[in-house]
Amino acid sequence: MVMNIDLYEPIVGVPVIGQLRRLGERLKGLKVVHVNSTAEGGGVAEILAWMVPLMTDLGLDARWRVIAGTGDFFAVTKAFHNGLQGYPVVLKKRDWDLYRAVNAENVKSLQGELEEADIVVIHDPQPAPLLELCPRRRGRWIWRCHIDASHPFRAVWKGLKPFVERYDASIFSMCQFAQLLPHSQYLIAPSIDPLSEKNVELDKDELDAVRSQFDLKPDVPVLVQISRFDRFKDPVGVIQAYRMVKKMTPVQLVLAGGGATDDPEGKEILDAVLEAAEGDPDIHVELLPAAAHRTVNALQRIADIVVQKSTREGFGLTVTEGLWKGKPVIGGDAGGIRLQVVDYHTGFLVMTPEGAANRIRFLLHHREQCRRMGETGRELVREYYLLTRHLREYLTLMYALVGGTTEHTVMV
Ligand code: UDP
Repeated sequence: MVMNIDLYEPIVGVPVIGQLRRLGERLKGLKVVHVNSTAEGGGVAEILAWMVPLMTDLGLDARWRVIAGTGDFFAVTKAFHNGLQGYPVVLKKRDWDLYRAVNAENVKSLQGELEEADIVVIHDPQPAPLLELCPRRRGRWIWRCHIDASHPFRAVWKGLKPFVERYDASIFSMCQFAQLLPHSQYLIAPSIDPLSEKNVELDKDELDAVRSQFDLKPDVPVLVQISRFDRFKDPVGVIQAYRMVKKMTPVQLVLAGGGATDDPEGKEILDAVLEAAEGDPDIHVELLPAAAHRTVNALQRIADIVVQKSTREGFGLTVTEGLWKGKPVIGGDAGGIRLQVVDYHTGFLVMTPEGAANRIRFLLHHREQCRRMGETGRELVREYYLLTRHLREYLTLMYALVGGTTEHTVMV
């Protein structure tokens, strides 16, 4: 895909684009390879889809590679994910062997490119063993952790640490996730692309079409949570909150989400959600195809309140997307949601279904406050969580790693 950074100028202003162009000139031709484990579904794929074309537009030689894995491999790496987010999981020696073996299989086609690269960015634990499998690497390697690693289950971190401590640097989304590692750790929060299908303005006809596609009643407030069906997104907690609200106020709920190819647990969580929904016609549980970006966009715009009641969250792009669309967000008081949801300003942080219900009721009865929170949220995103800030931080970090200074990067 070809993208042009100049198109963002009306949203972020001339100086921001000028600064990116100047950084791009200094890094012209830099060979950068990003590696992750899924081409679609989830926040990492969402980010790489614009980051790589925009780095290319800025003059870098940027590529995105996706490692292939088996069902067993993704079951193991999902256990890493759960473990890093604090869930107790059991991992056997054969799981760690499989982790290495699948990466060894992948390196066969990637080795030349990775060893030649100036910068390699490995996203999350799945491809982390690639570093030790590229002994002739000449560039600098960064491990980018997108997970809420604030309270990792120790056995999992102990097992993963030897794979990541040999990197030249790591990036976390917030300081609470940083770990004891023998290299520099940088803080870079994720961001959204305001011009993507997921976030562009949509006209009323398109919103009406999605409203009727989902069978939503016209005059009843809508709560929307868009998420992979994942235990940490707490979709069952959202249903509980909805039920408490509905006792007193008419409301309807959309819980929509697809899977990611590297997330094998979706089915189990979806079954639990369907059971909790008990066939309530005002709860719309929808499995979305991976490319349903405009549908997600429309649902977030149709929402009166966007919900993201996660109990652990690396960042929560769905929160950013909701705020950008001018919606107040009820977010779980966890991880990166805390960077975005500010009580009484952009939404409310909640810990429990009761707390969520209480805040939803408040918002449904204070429409003017909802509108003001929505405006504040959109400006918060414009200032801090659009892709231009994110690109600037990546480029300055790369500049620092290949011989510049760390002046503009945020270090732990
Ligand atoms: N998403 C989507 N379709 C779905 C579920 C999620 O397009 O069915 C998108 C969502 O809009 C967001 C990203 O996937 O852009 C999820 O990122 P987030 O940081 O919220 O959570 P993650 O899945 O990375 O834990």
